[in-house]
Amino acid sequence: MRRKKIDNPFAERLAAFAAKVAEKKLDAAVVFNQANVRSLTGVDCDNACLLVRPSCEPVFYTDFRYVPAVERTAPWLKVGDIKKVGGKKPLKLGKAKFAKVGYESVMTHAKFLTLEKVFPKAKFEDVVPELTALRSVKTPWEVERLRAAVRLNDEIWSEARGKFRAGMTEVEMARIIKHLMIERGEGEAFETIVCVGRNAAECHHVPDGTVWNGREPVLVDMGVKLGGYCSDMTRNIVPERPSRLYKKVYALVLEANMRAIAAAKPGMTAGDLDAVARRFLTKSGFGKEFGHSLGHGVGIEIHEAPWAAKKQKTVLKPGMSVTIEPGIYLPGNLGVRIEDLVVITEDGCEVLSASPK
Ligand code: ZN
Ligand code: ZN
Repeated sequence: MRRKKIDNPFAERLAAFAAKVAEKKLDAAVVFNQANVRSLTGVDCDNACLLVRPSCEPVFYTDFRYVPAVERTAPWLKVGDIKKVGGKKPLKLGKAKFAKVGYESVMTHAKFLTLEKVFPKAKFEDVVPELTALRSVKTPWEVERLRAAVRLNDEIWSEARGKFRAGMTEVEMARIIKHLMIERGEGEAFETIVCVGRNAAECHHVPDGTVWNGREPVLVDMGVKLGGYCSDMTRNIVPERPSRLYKKVYALVLEANMRAIAAAKPGMTAGDLDAVARRFLTKSGFGKEFGHSLGHGVGIEIHEAPWAAKKQKTVLKPGMSVTIEPGIYLPGNLGVRIEDLVVITEDGCEVLSASPK
């Protein structure tokens, strides 16, 4: 097969994973999860298996439908027929012994049963922690993509907001956003959330026929996909004359958001970051009303590691993306969440979201 020498932005992560496979004294590791395969190769394919062996060239197994796409997007990859790792026969690769094989413990049981046929003598070991740790640190190439996705999301928000009118329903407002995302990007990274008034007290309210009267607050949680990477942001339309309670809650959520952004830096745990916002909101009397975690990583998937949640021990590293999204929810009354996407840097964090808050 013809293989061109071109720049491979995933080479470093794939090499780091191969080093982990060697370090764990595995004879091979098989990666099936679509996002994991993509994070190691750049190839988005829903029927693939990446076989990684220490000091051997990795093999990208897929079926004939995807071979042209793999050769085009990742010409450095050796391609094999996926039947070899998905059938009933043991995999034969020269004299390779597969005594210890890394696998993803999150796979279905049915898939695991086929793996046992492909590697009949193998002992299996979970490599999800290694894959997750590598994927959670974005490469400069990936950070550039996140920046572009967030920039577009900011633009779409500002344009959509200008089109919102009193009398529109949540569904209509969400549709405006969705259409812009399809026109300018690769569509929604997740279903856009638009909450009018008290609907914002439900964190993941599904837009419905609720009509905006133009005076109530509106909460919008949205993320466009671009270049294969997601974005995620929550903003609120604050009414000209908000209630005193809304004003107070908004100011507290904004301060929790700003405090967490100011605190975010490498070396601290994701749990410590969550605690910065949580301690502040608890001291302000709204600890229980902040019922979810502070944030999550964003990348190929909208929700991925690291998890900025209570007691999370993951240590933040430069290159990790994480949302900062404290919220206060008062059922039957109001809800406010302010969400920004940041990337941890050498000495703090870079706030990617630029929409006014
Ligand atoms: Zn969000
Ligand atoms: Zn989020």
